[in-house]
Amino acid sequence: MQAVLKDSGLKITAQGCKLLEFLTQVDEQHLTIENIYLGLNAQGETIGLHTVHRIMANFEQAGLVVGRLFESKNTVYELSNKPRHDHLICLTCGKLIDFIDPLIELRLGLAAEHHGMSIHHHSLNMYGHCFACQKALNSKSDKQKV
Ligand SMILES: [Zn+2]
Ligand SMILES: [Zn+2]
Repeated sequence: MQAVLKDSGLKITAQGCKLLEFLTQVDEQHLTIENIYLGLNAQGETIGLHTVHRIMANFEQAGLVVGRLFESKNTVYELSNKPRHDHLICLTCGKLIDFIDPLIELRLGLAAEHHGMSIHHHSLNMYGHCFACQKALNSKSDKQKV
């Protein structure tokens, strides 16, 4: 952890290490500041919301994490060392799914090339309803029919 922080030119603090450790360990890869704050405190770390804010801002500036804003939800953060991917977002429960499609990557690359663009980054988001929410919606409308 310390090496990662040092490489990114960030000041090494105990709280910064803890936060980075937390981000690499959790299963859920898209976290809001509040998620991180609550998660750390649930692990027995006493760290304030403002401190989490400040550290995450530093992490983002140093390129360790990427912040993404989907519709009206709060910014979610994920580690920047993940392979490039796109997102599916559920409009009902806010669930986020990462996906990678080499064919899309290829087509985007060709489109950029065609227009003479050198690409810095791209974002592709699809919005809809996840499987669980579709099921819940369907059973609700079934009941209304009766
Ligand atoms: Zn959903
Ligand atoms: Zn993602």
